[in-house]
Amino acid sequence: MKTVIISNRLPVKIIEENNEYTFIPSEGGLATGLGDVYKSGNSIWIGWPGIEVPEERQEEVTQKLAELNLFPVFLTQNEINLYYEGFSNEVLWPVFHYLVTYAHYEQSYWDCYQSVNEKFAKSAMQVLGRKDKIWIQDYQLLLLPGILREKLPNATIGFFQHIPFPSYEIFRLIPWREELLNGLIGADLIGFHTYDDVRHFISTATRLLPVQSSSNVLNSHERQIVVEAFPMGIDFDKFSDLPATEKVKNEINYFRTGKEDMKVILSIDRLDYSKGILERLKAMELLLQHHPEYIGKIELFMIVVPSRDTVPQYSELRDQIDQFVGNLNARYRSMNWIPVNYFYRSFPIEVLSALYSTADICLVTPMRDGMNLVSKEYVASRNRNDGVLILSEMAGASKELTDAVIVNPNNMGDIMEAIVTALKMPLEEQQLRMTAMRAIVEKFNVKHWVNNFILRLNEVKDSQKSLLTKHAVNSINEVIAAKYAKTTDRVLFLDYDGTLVDFTGNIDDASPDDELYDLVENLTIDHANKVVIISGRRHETLEQWFGHLKVDLIAEHGAWQKSYGDKWNSLPLLTDQWKLEIKALLETYTDRTPGSFIEEKSYSLVWHYRKAEEGLGDLRANEIVSHMKILAADKGLQLMPGNKVIEFKNIEVNKGKAALNWLYDKNPDFILALGDDHTDEDIFKVLPDDAFTIKVGNNISEAKYYLNDFKEVRKLLWSLVKEEFVERG
Ligand code: UDP
Repeated sequence: MKTVIISNRLPVKIIEENNEYTFIPSEGGLATGLGDVYKSGNSIWIGWPGIEVPEERQEEVTQKLAELNLFPVFLTQNEINLYYEGFSNEVLWPVFHYLVTYAHYEQSYWDCYQSVNEKFAKSAMQVLGRKDKIWIQDYQLLLLPGILREKLPNATIGFFQHIPFPSYEIFRLIPWREELLNGLIGADLIGFHTYDDVRHFISTATRLLPVQSSSNVLNSHERQIVVEAFPMGIDFDKFSDLPATEKVKNEINYFRTGKEDMKVILSIDRLDYSKGILERLKAMELLLQHHPEYIGKIELFMIVVPSRDTVPQYSELRDQIDQFVGNLNARYRSMNWIPVNYFYRSFPIEVLSALYSTADICLVTPMRDGMNLVSKEYVASRNRNDGVLILSEMAGASKELTDAVIVNPNNMGDIMEAIVTALKMPLEEQQLRMTAMRAIVEKFNVKHWVNNFILRLNEVKDSQKSLLTKHAVNSINEVIAAKYAKTTDRVLFLDYDGTLVDFTGNIDDASPDDELYDLVENLTIDHANKVVIISGRRHETLEQWFGHLKVDLIAEHGAWQKSYGDKWNSLPLLTDQWKLEIKALLETYTDRTPGSFIEEKSYSLVWHYRKAEEGLGDLRANEIVSHMKILAADKGLQLMPGNKVIEFKNIEVNKGKAALNWLYDKNPDFILALGDDHTDEDIFKVLPDDAFTIKVGNNISEAKYYLNDFKEVRKLLWSLVKEEFVERG
């Protein structure tokens, strides 16, 4: 079993010179972190090599890359234009960074994004084994988990997104939103940098797809998908050790000579509108205006690494920066001092290290950033524990580096104040803050990030497998059927809503269909079977739906019972005096919650919110529980949250007691109980050990087994009926 990493770019730079290809492995953080993974054994990293390789030379490149455990996906220039520059960087990038007006929703971008994701899948299938672990990286490949899941239903697939995941309100603007989400949930584990991204993703997925969540687990039809925050780290040791090397020492000397008394503020970014570069310059201008005492005493070293500057929005930004810096310097400079030392290029790591380790302040103010590694690299480089980090609260890193001076990047005054605070900060305070931040960056380094993700991916797969052993299909179905065939006095406790039929927006729409009647009748043909429909529904409703069949009925969770051929009986000594007061209170919630309503039964009241706005209903249900639980207890009532309902009923009434009561004078040799919600747990708990208890839905339960939905329930019951015919021969 090997691990297969898949990302848009391979961690290698290919240089073509004199018709020869040379391969230079990348030293970036991700490549370093994943080095141990893809370089070990026969593991492999799949991705685009970064240049267009003519078809006749692709075989040669493939072979050379294989020596580095890399496997190429060759893309044409047109594909790069549409899938990468187009959909990835002109749709996903701006929308995920909340700059929705920058997005271009071109159909041709989307078509190509789909076909390139298919292409990645095709390449992956050439090297993937059935049991391999797959780890897909980032937003260029959102569809890939879903495509691979279809081809390899049991594969272990992890996905990590390196950029933010926006709130539902933003994400839903994308025309192809469901397709993107369906692609993503092909993964078993989905990772983001921060808990906020996790929250946004879960709320988006549950609003747009037919999936439910319970804390950070999404339950789709067939699998549980775990969504978690894994804040990515850097190679701490490398950045901490570099300043002591000869090369970096030379750079430091070169850089600091003549600037001994100057306070240096450092900023390093890729050219991008999400980085807040112009806003930072404006804050610098504000500082020089309002605090002229710093003129000639501080310098901003601003490095902007060229990126995507063929895209108009990026080249415009570059022009604006050029202009701003030019104006600012022209206005404030003196013969031997300029406020902004601006570089539009990239630097070797030794120069970066010299800057990181000597700058008094590092100013990191993105408008939105998935993580931001520059801030962590600055912290790691400060091995004397001095220096001040000013960090935007919109960067993922701000969730970990809480000892930085945190700013709102839209508030230029706030940034200016932060710079002043940093300039005045006593050394002891700098050291306290920096020591705390270094401990975090050291511990949560990139290796830690990789190990955590892989460990969690294994755990998620193991728990899926153990859940699978409880899935009442195949071998488990056979065990149930075998016992069914051998026994002669059987009872089947069947819950109704969510178990025999699906939920509907309108409770009256969930009446039994022809197939269900057919199924129940078939079950009752055999005299060895007693079918008990045990539901929270009103007894009048059950009578109307099932009164004509040879079944026993238990209604309102046990408040009413009826044996076949007999009349309805209610539990003795039940009171409904409490209903008036509780109903009046529930009405105040109904008045505030469009789509909700109250259902009145003989001995219970139900507040329904299936049609209320997503999220609002749950909020109200929580309010009801916290406001009314003491009152309910005083009145001898039980307050039961269910599937989009919350029910008040007499505490003496519960399905478990009703089931035991029903069994009182009987001694069946086969018991099967099926139910989907909270109230059915009472039945599962009280039944004898040899009963087959089955929960509908794969969340935690007292039941021994589970089925996914009412369709699987019907299938199981039909299979029993058919077994019976087989047995009878
Ligand atoms: N960087 C670089 N060369 C430079 C300047 C910066 O390789 O001349 C690196 C820097 O060390 C950091 C990365 O670029 O690791 C920027 O990562 P970050 O998360 O801050 O921003 P991103 O560009 O990924 O949005």
